Amino acid sequence: MGNYYQPEIETMPVEQLQKLQSERLVEQVKFVYDNVKFYHEKMDEKGVKPEDIKGIEDLHKLPFITKDDLRDQYPYGLLGVPLSECVRIQSTSGTTGRRVVAFYTQADLDVWEDCCARAIMAAGGTKEDVVHVCYGYGLFTGGPGLNGGSHRVGCLTLPMSSGNTERQLQFMEDLGSTILCCTPSYAANLGETITEKGLKDKIKLKAGIFGAEPWTEEMRHNIEETLGIKAYDIYGLTEISGPGVSFECEEQAGMHIQEDHFIPEIINPDTGEVLPEGEVGELVFTCITKKAFPLLRYRTRDLCYLTRKKCSCGRTHIRMHKPTGRSDDMMVVKGVNVWPSQIEAVLLKQGFQANYQIVVDRLGNNDTIEVQVELTPEMVAANDKTVAQREKEIVAGLKSMLGIKVDVKVVDPKTIVRSEGKAVRVVDKRNLYQ
Ligand SMILES: [Zn+2]
Repeated sequence: MGNYYQPEIETMPVEQLQKLQSERLVEQVKFVYDNVKFYHEKMDEKGVKPEDIKGIEDLHKLPFITKDDLRDQYPYGLLGVPLSECVRIQSTSGTTGRRVVAFYTQADLDVWEDCCARAIMAAGGTKEDVVHVCYGYGLFTGGPGLNGGSHRVGCLTLPMSSGNTERQLQFMEDLGSTILCCTPSYAANLGETITEKGLKDKIKLKAGIFGAEPWTEEMRHNIEETLGIKAYDIYGLTEISGPGVSFECEEQAGMHIQEDHFIPEIINPDTGEVLPEGEVGELVFTCITKKAFPLLRYRTRDLCYLTRKKCSCGRTHIRMHKPTGRSDDMMVVKGVNVWPSQIEAVLLKQGFQANYQIVVDRLGNNDTIEVQVELTPEMVAANDKTVAQREKEIVAGLKSMLGIKVDVKVVDPKTIVRSEGKAVRVVDKRNLYQ
């Protein structure tokens, strides 16, 4: 066990918290300047010396770092300590380019697991709980992160990993899992199977911690209802450490950022200017305790806003609103910005479940976009509307949400392939990036 797990830090008065951040920032900036050539050169280029950073008020003087920088520095360019001090790597999936490999010292792992432990406790977890982790294990941070956090809380931990739904449900029933950790799309998938098999009474789940992909409020309600639980959001990035950078408390009104380890900023993505609290912009993080893979002012490309409004849970750490989109997820279709989450919101509002796929293609110079969505078993049973009627309603809903005409195809239940990890929502056949 590390020495980092200090629940009292979560309710520390803001002034005291910011003093702690300032101390850690000053120390961290000196550390990276002395130990990472990349930062040394970047700061020199900008004419900033470590002694210019006297506290969090000077954070804006530091240069940004982007995902491209991480890729350019692959694999060892950002190491803050000798490789012999590192005990673990994790990695991004690398679907949009070169993988990012993040390194951890034992102390870095302790911090990460503590953050996940806090997330589990915020979802009501205690040592009496049985935590069912069906995030993927391996290079992906979901499984190892929540697994480590669950150990720290003292919960019985089921390292299920993803896939094999039959076995998941068997263990859930036999071992009495109480907290489920997975992607929201897999939680919806499990909920659907539990309903079909009539297992709801045999499942003891009370809470779920879901992240690693965007999900809507409608999807949350849907999961809460089918699984009979309270569903909590969790946020993190491999580059920053993994899940647990921020998470929801019982208020479910934004995720508390673990500010004793990560300092957030919101910037205008075009100009880099820091925006005031409450304004939507790109989320930027500075890690103030991480040593193996230290990041200063890392641009996440997630768009959201921050609020320090008092939270009834007692935590003083700033909250981030669920990202409204990620520049990576955003598609430009027919010249309009489209986020899959917007389409999902329309579908769920009309009573569909999150079993859908978006296919984007190009015919000549014109983009085409088609949304395929499954009828729910309830819709089939009710038989109160024709497929054509439903399609027409969705087309109208999407037109008013996005301002463009989207083709819609309503298909039979169980037609669209289910995901066991991150769902593939978008199939873009235009090959714009090749
Ligand atoms: Zn709270």
